[in-house]
Amino acid sequence: MSTNRTFTMIKPDAVANGHIGSIINDITHAGFKIIALKYTKLSAEKAGEFYAIHKARPFYHDLVSFMSSGPIVAAILEKENAIEEFRKLIGATNPAEAAEGTIRQKYAKSIDANAIHGSDSDENAQIEGDFFFTADERF
Ligand code: GDP
Repeated sequence: MSTNRTFTMIKPDAVANGHIGSIINDITHAGFKIIALKYTKLSAEKAGEFYAIHKARPFYHDLVSFMSSGPIVAAILEKENAIEEFRKLIGATNPAEAAEGTIRQKYAKSIDANAIHGSDSDENAQIEGDFFFTADERF
């Protein structure tokens, strides 16, 4: 069953480049309601845990090192058909292939530093949201 929720992170590159405000503006302008929001930093250990599903991929170590290189913004978002709608809003994993007007096309520079994360399923949105937020941090 769809929960109409997704999980996102504004990644270290977008935070460092001063895009937090613009990205949150794009997200709320697209009709997503913020359920939970946190400015934080992942340790290498926590980043490794979050991306454990990619452990076998050749870029896993680069990904973990990048995601723990600086602060991030984590959020749970709500909208009808949230997973698909949010993936549309952020664009393709490789910003060079991301559609015009998408967050990755506007704010990302490369496939590794690609500005933003969006969950790929309801199940993962639940797991990822639980990774960052307790029940009483959601409104
Ligand atoms: P997403 O769901 O669009 O984020 O893409 P994936 O689940 O396939 O990959 C997770 C994350 O790993 C991406 O958002 C990128 O930050 C990173 N990533 C994917 N492919 C590569 C790659 O070829 N090299 C590096 N360094 N990072 C990658």
